[in-house]
Amino acid sequence: MQIETYIHAIPDYPKPGIVFRDITPLLANGDAFRETINTFLARYKDQGITKIVGIEARGFIFATALAYAMGVGFVPLRKPGKLPRETVSQRYALEYGEDQLELHAEDLTADDNVLIMDDLLATGGTVLAAVEMLNKLNVTIAECAFVIQLNELPGAKRLKQANIPYYTLCSF
Ligand code: IMP
Repeated sequence: MQIETYIHAIPDYPKPGIVFRDITPLLANGDAFRETINTFLARYKDQGITKIVGIEARGFIFATALAYAMGVGFVPLRKPGKLPRETVSQRYALEYGEDQLELHAEDLTADDNVLIMDDLLATGGTVLAAVEMLNKLNVTIAECAFVIQLNELPGAKRLKQANIPYYTLCSF
């Protein structure tokens, strides 16, 4: 199955000149969604991963499905102000302005071997912020996994330069 077929390109969204990659057709198709999760499962099931960290919001969808399939815990990386207990946080630059990610500090320990998941790798700013946060907790990062990589943006190059292993199912 070509899962690319289920990712739609939406021109000029959310603003003129941007081609938005929409994963909702993939989620809406049971076979395509299952194939996506099974492909990740085949890669990660024997790698000693103890937790899957998902990035809000679309990263949660893939991370929770895979965590369930692997029988490991899921840890959400959230936008600011959503988590009630003590958090670790990291600011990062967006194209215009900045954003922040937070996680519950107690949810991960230095013994954990973690897979980070998001739907899409673009500039790499989001995932590099996630990596920084996990480094603050001395957690081992097994790999960063994405459904989509955008080749015109520098995310993949930045991860390579930083020696952070990553895997993507398809690229545009
Ligand atoms: P980055 O930080 O520039 O790598 O952007 C990645 C983040 O932006 C991910 O959390 C994505 O969910 C989101 N994102 C950026 N572009 C798209 C897109 O075309 N489709 C879906 N999500 C996108």
